[in-house]
Amino acid sequence: MYELNLPNENPLSIFNCLTRNHPLMMQLYSQEMINTVNFFDEIYRIKGSTASLYTLPTCKITFRSTTTKDEMEKLYNNRLVKSKGGKIIYQSIMNSAINKTCPLCSLRLVSTLDHYLPKAHYPQYAISRKNLYPACIECNKSKLDTVSSKKAEQTFHPYFDTLRGVNWLLATYHSSPTPKLVFYINNAVTNKFYLRDRMEFHFKKLSLGELYSTYAANELASIKYNLQLIYEKKGSNGIRRYLHKEYISASAVNKNSWKTVFYLTLSNSSVFCSSGFNNISDIRFP
Ligand SMILES: [Zn+2]
Repeated sequence: MYELNLPNENPLSIFNCLTRNHPLMMQLYSQEMINTVNFFDEIYRIKGSTASLYTLPTCKITFRSTTTKDEMEKLYNNRLVKSKGGKIIYQSIMNSAINKTCPLCSLRLVSTLDHYLPKAHYPQYAISRKNLYPACIECNKSKLDTVSSKKAEQTFHPYFDTLRGVNWLLATYHSSPTPKLVFYINNAVTNKFYLRDRMEFHFKKLSLGELYSTYAANELASIKYNLQLIYEKKGSNGIRRYLHKEYISASAVNKNSWKTVFYLTLSNSSVFCSSGFNNISDIRFP
């Protein structure tokens, strides 16, 4: 999980672009419609800033009685994703990801746009900029079209949930039967607006613990030989120093990556540094 800057574009700019030469243009562009789009955008901002988006009503008809859910979904699927002007907007949102990395898992490549409030249930936000951010396809699918009914059961919102400076990811080291790491959300994270509860919900819903543990297992196997060489020359203190340097290096990029927490946890384990590394499971791909 990592945060993105809250988009501050005029909410009508996407509508302007996507409805150009569109049959819906005339009915969409009434003053009533413009007022409604601005109103919905402001409501989204207020609800998002207090983690209350789950209280918004699901709608089948949007903006005006003549603008249906299907029409809003088509504006997204046919215009934002496929039209010339839409593709430019789509790509600019994709480009907001840091190093093409998904803000929901902080690991896999972004490959799609995710609707925080699913367009199947909230068509009024199908092409809302504040509701759209880049994500990997796995996180996008894991969220599904779920509608939350409880504050604590909402996933992390990259535009509204502030994590900067917070060490939210931790792991425990398990030595038996073979070394492994189990990742979890730091209990010290504030629970204001149910942030910690929601991060734990997000972590579970998107299976991030399993994902990070798998990467950790591969990393353990890949450093085993190197650790044995270091131990021969410099003993357990040499191993601890090596792991700590790797932690500092990874932390400079992202203090909450699985890799940062991996090296921090191992460098703090006297069991691992003294002899535990010898029990690392071998992983060999053909
Ligand atoms: Zn992801």
